[in-house]
Parts: sequence; C-alpha cells; structure tokens
Amino acid sequence: MADQPKAITVAIDGPAGAGKSTVAKRVAKALGLKMLDTGAMYRCAALLAARNGLGAQDGDAVAEHLKASQIQFEEGDPIRVILNGEEVTGAIRTPEMSDLASALSAHPPIRALLAEQQKQIVAQGGYVLEGRDTTRVVAPHAEVKVYLPASIEERAERRWKELHAKGMPVEIDELLRQIAERDARDMNRADSPLRRVPDALVVETFGLTPEEVAQRIIERARAGASQLA
Ligand code: C5P
Repeated sequence: MADQPKAITVAIDGPAGAGKSTVAKRVAKALGLKMLDTGAMYRCAALLAARNGLGAQDGDAVAEHLKASQIQFEEGDPIRVILNGEEVTGAIRTPEMSDLASALSAHPPIRALLAEQQKQIVAQGGYVLEGRDTTRVVAPHAEVKVYLPASIEERAERRWKELHAKGMPVEIDELLRQIAERDARDMNRADSPLRRVPDALVVETFGLTPEEVAQRIIERARAGASQLA
C-alpha cells in the first residue's frame, strides 16, 4: 500500500464485549499491521488452570504453569492460538474461560509474566494490540491509543449474538450479570485496572458499525501521532 504509514503501534483498550477484537482486526488489515489479542493470553492462563485442577485463587500456581508454557499465534481468521503446541482457539472462548481469565488476571504474578511477554512481542512496532492495559502498561509508547467504551446492554447483546451464531445459547440476563462482574473486576483490581489514559482517542461505539469505529482509528493513525488528543 503506497499510503501505508511506518510501522506504528496502535493500542486499544476497553471493557469486555466492546468489540475490540473485530475493530482491531480491521485496523490491522487496513494499516498492514499485525495483531496481538492480549486477552487470549489470559484465557490461556485460565485453560492451563482448568486443566491442572486449579482455580481463581491459585494465581501463584497458575503463574508457574504459565512460565513452563508457550503461547503462540498463527495466521488465520480468527488468528489461531496455540498453547504448548495444541490449538486452543475455540477452547479458550467459552463463558467459563472468560470468567476464570478475568479472575486470574487480577493476580500480579500472572500479569507481570504476560505483560512482559506482550511487551517483547510488540517491541519493534507494527502491531495493533488490544486488551485492558495495553495503553498504560504494555505499550504506553504507542503512537495511537484508543479507548472503546460501550454500555453493558450493548455489549451483552453483541456477545449474545456471537455465542448464538456459534451454537452456544445463553440467557441475556446471565450475560449481563457476567459482563457486570467482569467489569467490576477489571476496573477495580489493584494491579493494572482498566482505565482510559488521558491521550486516548475515545470512540463511543453505540450506533456505529465496527467498520465505522475502525475507520476513526485508521484516520487517527494516518493523521500521525502529533495530532493525538
Ligand atoms: O479480552 P478478553 O475478554 O478476551 O480477556 C479475557 C480477560 O482477560 C478479561 O476479562 C480481563 O480480565 C483479562 N485481560 C486483562 N488484561 C488484558 C487483556 C485481558 O486483564 N490486557
């Protein structure tokens, strides 16, 4: 692409279900950047826990399993997540793994380990990364930082549609409860809570399609870091 900017970093944070991964994927494609789904790594921690009979309170033991594990990403749509050589792309996306990942992500040893790995992955630039702490902790140097807020109702509805499309029916009330619980944990934990950084571009997702949200970010990236809010 002739008008492609240099290998910049775009960091996108927001609460569960705000559409970050769909938007990140579109931004990455338009700007010729790679993608890093940081949440997938917390989900791998949850899967390791579940498979080793560990739970939400076992942060230290899960961190030990993580240290001995390898998380890789391979090209694909969706990007394939490989944990210790096994594809776990689908296995990490169940509501149980969402819940366990959220609980485990509050443990500082797990955050320290994964944030370090994530920093190394994006160190050379050329990435769109998304999660909860990417603008503050993993890539505070990012040329473009974005915060995607969205109401709980809007996010529950989006998740409901996604899960139904995958043949995983869930009650909307249950999703509302789960999302509120995850929000509370993600926003109130002591270590790296979800926060909007002052220089983030805030894109309210309500009423916008993922294309429109992505377009605003792409425009900001093309306009250059000097015009950040
Ligand atoms: O983004 P996703 O919903 O897949 O993330 C799963 C969980 O991992 C989140 O609920 C959040 O608690 C945690 N997470 C995090 N920091 C990140 C990404 C995800 O704490 N950068």
